[in-house]
Amino acid sequence: DYIESTRSPIESDFVINTEKKIHLEVPQGSNGVLVKNLYLSCDPYMYILMKDIKDAYVFTSYTPGSVITGFGVAKVLDSRHPNFKKGDLVWGITGWEEYSLITKLEELFKIEHTDVPLSYYTGILGMPGLTAHFGFHEVCAPKKGEYVFVSAAVGAVGQLVGQFAKLMGCYVVGSAGSQEKVELLKNKFGFDAAFNYKEEHDLDAALKRCFPEGVDIYFDNVGGKMLDAVLLNMRNHGRIALCGMITQYNLLEQVEGVNNLMNLLYKRVRMEGFAAFDYFPFYSKFLESVLPYIREGKIIYVEDVAEGLENAPSAFVGLFSGHNVGKQVVAIAQD
Ligand code: NDP
Repeated sequence: DYIESTRSPIESDFVINTEKKIHLEVPQGSNGVLVKNLYLSCDPYMYILMKDIKDAYVFTSYTPGSVITGFGVAKVLDSRHPNFKKGDLVWGITGWEEYSLITKLEELFKIEHTDVPLSYYTGILGMPGLTAHFGFHEVCAPKKGEYVFVSAAVGAVGQLVGQFAKLMGCYVVGSAGSQEKVELLKNKFGFDAAFNYKEEHDLDAALKRCFPEGVDIYFDNVGGKMLDAVLLNMRNHGRIALCGMITQYNLLEQVEGVNNLMNLLYKRVRMEGFAAFDYFPFYSKFLESVLPYIREGKIIYVEDVAEGLENAPSAFVGLFSGHNVGKQVVAIAQD
């Protein structure tokens, strides 16, 4: 059934069905594509779709009992569509199952570059990468030397935003939920500073310590108390990109609202929501920009790879307690 809005997802929300049979060819009369799934992506938005909230986001809610859909990487086994042929590698919306018949082909993209790990098309070269790239460069409109703060900074999106900001010559601080993640931010991703928000009893004080002169850009992945504290620390004409609000997806934690919104007005701050899907038409521009960074080692990408379809539920559930270190992927088959 649908998840009540007042609790986190748990593994038993998922049922593994070993009965379903699928013919390994596209049926007559369909112009779809039959794929073997190789990697599945765990993304926080999927939790929103597990609730009975029709059309609340870019997608509609899942139907209880049906196969979970989400981003993934797959290999085409059979195709009745002229744009795809047997052997093509693709990324896009697929199912949490070994094989999927995909008929919404506008949500499927051919993979042209295979000199990078295929799983990257669930992360840095897929939807989270697009989110970080356009969310930072377009929505935040950064300038060299500006002070940038990123929350959930070790995640699929956050680790990239911080590195894009460093490449722009900004001063970058990230927050994350463990000491291990703080070390990654400082020593692997090149953030200037980082703190563990779970160990700070006063978030305002932590931000003042890291940004004595205030924050120009806040890339918000969490909302809630952190957003409220950042509002107090924004500089004049700052920008806040509302990427996500994971604290609000589980309403158990929505105990304190945002109190400091008037600071937007006092300081003429621009706070703007955005959706990765708006930027899909610019995917090739994005690839041109990001692929060289990967090949030249200017950007690194950390993934947390669970093995096997049976481990997909626990991998997904882990997103909401911060179990994942980096982009959560599920590897389910070899190419
Ligand atoms: P992540 O890889 O960052 O995984 C989620 C992380 O959120 C966890 O690892 C955990 O890290 C942190 N987290 C979980 N619960 C809480 C909490 N209660 N308070 C603070 N932090 C918490 O996910 P993504 O990078 O894929 O997504 C990041 C955000 O961006 C999400 O809000 C997501 O919905 C949003 N998003 C929006 C898009 C758009 O189009 N606007 C597209 C893609 C993502 P920690 O250990 O640090 O707590």
